[in-house]
Amino acid sequence: MASIFSKIIAGEIPGDIVYRDELVTAFRDINPQAPTHILIVPNKEIPTVNEVTEADEAALGRLIVAAKKIAEQEGIAENGYRLIVNCGKHGHQDVFHIHMHLVGGRPLGPMLYR
Ligand code: 5GP
Repeated sequence: MASIFSKIIAGEIPGDIVYRDELVTAFRDINPQAPTHILIVPNKEIPTVNEVTEADEAALGRLIVAAKKIAEQEGIAENGYRLIVNCGKHGHQDVFHIHMHLVGGRPLGPMLYR
């Protein structure tokens, strides 16, 4: 079954999409933890970092290139931001479609945002 993020990418359910290219899509988190909280997601559904292969390198590299562009778009590049990828149970991953959180717009404190 397609992940909730695949459904947003496919336009089957609503998402506030801020960036899209042939490898990744980015949309605003439904429960933002900071003034800017965006999820950047490979268009290909990979459940967790544990399932990543070398064939995914282009899409995974694109997550960071997209993060840079989106941070500029959001006006938070200069002050800085945090990029987070959670994996599995101990990483508190809730949605099993790899995603990078782009969090910023306020000072975040050390390491963890919640
Ligand atoms: P995780 O804990 O898996 O790293 O993060 C999952 C994130 O997805 C959470 O921050 C949560 O708020 C967000 N999220 C869950 N369901 C939806 C949804 O349907 N739409 C959007 N935009 N974000 C979602």
